[in-house]
Amino acid sequence: MESIVAKFGGSSVANGTQIRKVKAIIEQDPRRRYIVVSAPGISYENNTKVTDLLLLLDTLHKNHQDYHGVLHNIRRIYEGIANEFSISMDFDQEFEEILRQMDVGEGTDYIVSRGEYLNAKLMAQILDLPFVDAKDLLFFNQDGIFDEEASIHAIGEILKDLPGAVIPGFYGQLPKGRIKTFSRGGSDFSGAVISAGVNALVYENWTDVSGFLVADPRIVKNPERIKEITYEELRELSYMGASVLHDEAMFPILKDRIPIKIKNTNAPEEEGTLILPQEKKRHFSNITGIAGRKNFTVIYIQKTKLNWDRSFYRKLMGILESHDIYLEHMPSSIDSVSLIIKDDVKDPKVRKVIDDIKNICEPEAIGFERGISLITVVGHGMKNTTGTSAICFQSLAKANINIRLIVQGSSELNIIIGVNDEDYENAIENIYHGFLK
Ligand code: ASP
Repeated sequence: MESIVAKFGGSSVANGTQIRKVKAIIEQDPRRRYIVVSAPGISYENNTKVTDLLLLLDTLHKNHQDYHGVLHNIRRIYEGIANEFSISMDFDQEFEEILRQMDVGEGTDYIVSRGEYLNAKLMAQILDLPFVDAKDLLFFNQDGIFDEEASIHAIGEILKDLPGAVIPGFYGQLPKGRIKTFSRGGSDFSGAVISAGVNALVYENWTDVSGFLVADPRIVKNPERIKEITYEELRELSYMGASVLHDEAMFPILKDRIPIKIKNTNAPEEEGTLILPQEKKRHFSNITGIAGRKNFTVIYIQKTKLNWDRSFYRKLMGILESHDIYLEHMPSSIDSVSLIIKDDVKDPKVRKVIDDIKNICEPEAIGFERGISLITVVGHGMKNTTGTSAICFQSLAKANINIRLIVQGSSELNIIIGVNDEDYENAIENIYHGFLK
């Protein structure tokens, strides 16, 4: 039987009202069999996420400070949900166990994971589905690296005989039985692994927005929604900060080419955004999205005939590596190259890098500049259309915005334009309106 994995984020399961919406969504399609839940997020009644309260609980406990108020708040959130659905749970026992584990020195990850654990237990009762603990499905190796193969195997084995299941997101198990969490927002990743393990028809990611927008709504007023986006396009946009989905959530489903649908729990009738492999894309437009980030630093290097020096780039990369600096982009011409790095590399370190480049690569000129923004205009469609970059550049020229640098990868998936930080918002707005009126 075909199955859908539906993951509900913190805002979707924040209180009884939200969980009623979740229940209706699940009941609407019998293929929604594997349900992955986050811990309750912010709601009308609670202005802090349960995960953050648990982190605070852990800190207070470690510092021998009074944690009872925080513990009480956490418990109240779950009791509120249980009361709303008239279900019972032995909260005394559950919370005594958490305290006991804290006292025996069980790590922060265990404590923080209880947010998802308790929520999934409640949701299983509400939805009348079996609860399956994530520690039996998702595994890490002894180095703390996620073991995708073992996890996918266990998921297939354990879930295949069940009518469905509710699974807590965000954590798994280390070899000796200890709990380990993913990075924040990691329930998205859990949902993706479960989707791969059951070979889901689609992985639905239910949140509080109806998918991705073509541009940041804080900059562009009422931007259009992206109907379809390929995995690769989304990678480019997320790198630049468009965040709805956890950065790594795509990796487990890539091999099986499982689509991800971003849906809004508060407006389930809205279509949402479909993330899919390129071969399945049906809607084409020359651009899919625009995103960007401020605060990059550019190191400019000028050296005549640098492309005749076979070892030039190797030496350059060696210098960056020795200073533990990540290179973001590297636009070049025959006699010059620019290294684009993040602004968090402090001045003394940048100066040391420059000194090394001077000594080892012997450039004619070198310098650096802060405060550069990068804007990426993404779309597979631009490969087969002429004029995409013309629209970008004309839009910027009309607005009198100076382009500081341009990068276009050979895959023609995106164009990256560098502008001064103070032109950033204006540039995005003008590019958007150049394509979409
Ligand atoms: N509850 C965790 C967090 O707030 C994980 C998640 O919701 O995905 O980050």
